[in-house]
Amino acid sequence: MKKRMQNIFGIILPVMIIWITACSEMPKTTGDYPIQPVPFTSVAVKDKFWAPRIKRNHEVTIPIAFEQSEVTGRVKNFKIAGGLEEGEFCSIYPFDDSDVFKIIEGASYSLQTLPDPKLEAYLDTLIYYIGLAQEEDGYLFTIRNIMGDDSHPWIGSKRWEKTHILSHELYNLGHMYEAAVAHYQATGKRNFLHIALKSADLVDREFGWDKIENYPGHQEIEIGLVKLYRLTGEQKYLDLAKFFLDVRGPGGEEYNQAHKKVTEQDSAVGHAVRAAYMYSGIADVAALTNDKAYVDAISRIWEDIVYRKIYITGGIGATGGNEGFAEPYRLPNMSAYCETCSSIANIFWNHRMFLHQGDVKYLDILERTLYNGMISGVSLSGDRFFYPNPLASYGQHERQEWFGCACCPSNITRFIPSIPGYIYAKTAGRIYVNLYTENDAEVEMNDQTVRIQMKTDYPWDGKISLTINPEQPERFTFFLRIPGWARNQPVSGDLYYYMQDVEEKPQLQVNGKNTNYKLNEGYIRLNRKWKAGDQVELILPMPVTKVLAHEKVEDDQDRFALQRGPLVYCLEWPDQEGGKVFNLMADTEASFTTEFNPGLLQGVQVIKTTGISYSKTLENGLESKPVKITAIPYHVWANRGQGEMTVWIPMEEKAVRPFSFQVNSAAIN
Ligand SMILES: [Zn+2]
Repeated sequence: MKKRMQNIFGIILPVMIIWITACSEMPKTTGDYPIQPVPFTSVAVKDKFWAPRIKRNHEVTIPIAFEQSEVTGRVKNFKIAGGLEEGEFCSIYPFDDSDVFKIIEGASYSLQTLPDPKLEAYLDTLIYYIGLAQEEDGYLFTIRNIMGDDSHPWIGSKRWEKTHILSHELYNLGHMYEAAVAHYQATGKRNFLHIALKSADLVDREFGWDKIENYPGHQEIEIGLVKLYRLTGEQKYLDLAKFFLDVRGPGGEEYNQAHKKVTEQDSAVGHAVRAAYMYSGIADVAALTNDKAYVDAISRIWEDIVYRKIYITGGIGATGGNEGFAEPYRLPNMSAYCETCSSIANIFWNHRMFLHQGDVKYLDILERTLYNGMISGVSLSGDRFFYPNPLASYGQHERQEWFGCACCPSNITRFIPSIPGYIYAKTAGRIYVNLYTENDAEVEMNDQTVRIQMKTDYPWDGKISLTINPEQPERFTFFLRIPGWARNQPVSGDLYYYMQDVEEKPQLQVNGKNTNYKLNEGYIRLNRKWKAGDQVELILPMPVTKVLAHEKVEDDQDRFALQRGPLVYCLEWPDQEGGKVFNLMADTEASFTTEFNPGLLQGVQVIKTTGISYSKTLENGLESKPVKITAIPYHVWANRGQGEMTVWIPMEEKAVRPFSFQVNSAAIN
């Protein structure tokens, strides 16, 4: 690994003139989300769960993602387009530029908490190539820059012609804008921002009402334009983001959510990543323009997903054909798509919904997705990736080093370093504690800095200790989130529910005294005059719970899923006697014990119970015997080789898969 990193970062910086100036005055926006996140740069995560992953993302995932971008020609495309090298467009897809942008975005976030001069210099080199590849008027799309029009069936005979179908010209640019803003904020350098603004100005000159009236086939530019607007205060970027939303539909395809005007959409259809990026963009534009019709539309769509179309892991997208949503309640487990990117997009969107409305239900989806369907997308080693994240496997699934279409690994690189930014949020007079993980944070509140120290072993243990240190005593309200899983409501609606409600309630102490509380929309609100050294202790009971699915979800019938705290569990082959899973049935009456195993999968809490193992006899009869069953957190499956796995565990004989009996029978023979 070290050698590989040296190869990547050892590239000699070409002589270049980069317009580098220190951070200068930029106008700020006025209206925005009523609740503001506390940025990840103000939250130092120190726990055993996320901190090692953030470090590994920096040390392993980002370097190999850049290396793969070099090996697969993604970087070379910029060099060829910029005239530094000869050759043809040398990667596969017209959207391959976007991966480089996303990894630069991830590296920029990562640099802010893990300074790394070599990495920063490498980014300058890449940005130099990108700048050379950009045409005089701001156009940048390496496949057309190199190969010309009609060189790929997706790109059309001239610029922007197939932007609403598959060209991905605007999708690439959205990722570039996000990356350029991140890089500017991380380094204070304007080299990438300059390229991005030149590009956005071109798009603004060419697209709009009475100009090219077309929308992106893959949404993303809306989010990027809003970031440019927030940074520069230039109204035209916000107007352009809104234009790209309003110009969609009717009459387009459901696949990319252009079948109706966005304000008339009421159900989740089509490609899940496109959809969730679009809903995120709608939320952003709604916050900045106070557009109620936008909020109503994404609220209706949210209910459609959460009540009928989301997996217990927080994954979205049930079918591979459209990489997206299926009809209500169709949630197959083994063929579940649950693309890593759609989990990330779903977190973006739910975070924005919370910032709009302050409702804890959005954070329940965010947390569920974060700890299950999202983080399963990367291996414990940080160098293998899932594209789909299925909920059952015969062993045909295995994380890969990279993909021809590499959206998921590059998305992982940019998402992981930003996770500390989801922990806290604030308004004037309120501090929201939304996620629990050990950290030291600084929250600007009124005219002072409130330092918060959180000690906890979450997600393995529900005890959370907070020390609050304002500079001067001051009255404000602490909002402590009580997660849905601790309120007997794993998610809003009736798609999933506990087999038995948990009686034990969360306990609260303030400065060592047991304190009564009333839950107010999922939060404990603590309003008092806080002084330095004040202590809050919250204990969230973490019993093992059995989750059932709505009767219309065929694949989950006669089965339950195990959950403890925010983590969904699974049965995986190496932990079971005989190395098989599909021949097992759990005994729901049996006790479920749990213990932390520090030597397993970098340290995980396992759940143990008993059940029955079925196998075929030589005479084709059925044999059963009692067995021990061990469950591990879903997100760490597939780190020990290929084999059987299931999240939904049979509790009735009819749910046990006959396929496994045959496998067993073959093994006997
Ligand atoms: Zn992806």
